[in-house]
Amino acid sequence: MKRVHNFSAGPCTLPLEVLEETQSEFLNFAGNGMSIIEDSHRGYSYEKIQQDALASFRRLADVPDDFALLFLQGGATLQFAQTAMNLLAESETAGYVNTGVWGQKALEDASKVANIYEAWSGEDTSFTTTPNRNEIGLKEDTKWLHITSNETIGGVRFRHLPDVDIPLVADMSSDFLSRSIDWDKFDLVYGGAQKNLGPAGLVIVIVRRESLGKHGRNLPTYLDYQFHDENDSLGNTPPMFPIYVMGKVLGWMEKNGGLEEFERRAEIRSSLLYEVIDNSDGWYSSPVATDSRSLMNIIFHLPDETLESRFLEEATALDLINLKGHRSVGGVRTSLYNAMPVESVEILTNFMKDFLKTNG
Ligand SMILES: *Cc1c(COP(=O)(O)O)cnc(C)c1O
Repeated sequence: MKRVHNFSAGPCTLPLEVLEETQSEFLNFAGNGMSIIEDSHRGYSYEKIQQDALASFRRLADVPDDFALLFLQGGATLQFAQTAMNLLAESETAGYVNTGVWGQKALEDASKVANIYEAWSGEDTSFTTTPNRNEIGLKEDTKWLHITSNETIGGVRFRHLPDVDIPLVADMSSDFLSRSIDWDKFDLVYGGAQKNLGPAGLVIVIVRRESLGKHGRNLPTYLDYQFHDENDSLGNTPPMFPIYVMGKVLGWMEKNGGLEEFERRAEIRSSLLYEVIDNSDGWYSSPVATDSRSLMNIIFHLPDETLESRFLEEATALDLINLKGHRSVGGVRTSLYNAMPVESVEILTNFMKDFLKTNG
């Protein structure tokens, strides 16, 4: 069976051994005579999957005991509003750093349900960089600051967290568990599973328990984090299949050396690409400021659109797939998430060098 080199920005490539194991036990899980997705979420088999995935996530990300770990639905998109509903009372306010498409969406949705403001915008620099501490305009009595740790479309990431003296709330969807998290600095972290950790349909929220239950709002059951925390995210039927597969991915990550190793691999993969870009005399060009370059989503342009189309066509013929940049940015986007083999990146960079030789 042929497998392509899949550089999709999400859903993303997953470890082959996880897919194979999932396939092998799909029809008959643990000798139960049925698939895990047909079984009760209150049954022994599934409850164990849920508890193991929660425990594995805590170990990998070193989540402190005073943080709740929640497995929810609605994607990172629902979290844009749900975070603000749960962490802000009507009279309170939060600041938002707008580093690009996702930062902007978070800000817009939160502003529909709470009193928030834009503390920094990357618009003047075409969303190619992250702010320094002194550029972030914090108003007095701001409860927390929202950031997007990695902008999936713009290819911009916070290399260092902004050094503010209020807690951070972060959308980490596209660099989730690709580097360690300094929990002291956060009240809440969230991320969709489908960029680094598993299939779509699952979002992970990690929230400081101390900050819960203070919103004073009359929230519907599902929207209240406390409901999920009190029930180990089994208060209603959870997204069983994505949690089951993510559990396997987390196990695979633990077996392969944990976050330190995946951070190292992310450095290796992205350096391979940035080296080719930087050694091409501007033929391949990255729009992103050097110290804000993403290790997960690498964006670059060729000298013109005709060359870009030819590049994508020839890449596809070599099974280098899903490289077209987002329609708002154009060019090429390579997404190098946790399960992307270094060998696949080498095949891509060799192709880039050949393409430059032939067309440059
Ligand atoms: C993909 C993505 C989202 C949206 O996730 P959904 O699961 O589709 O709602 C939000 N933020 C970032 C940074 C993303 O990469």
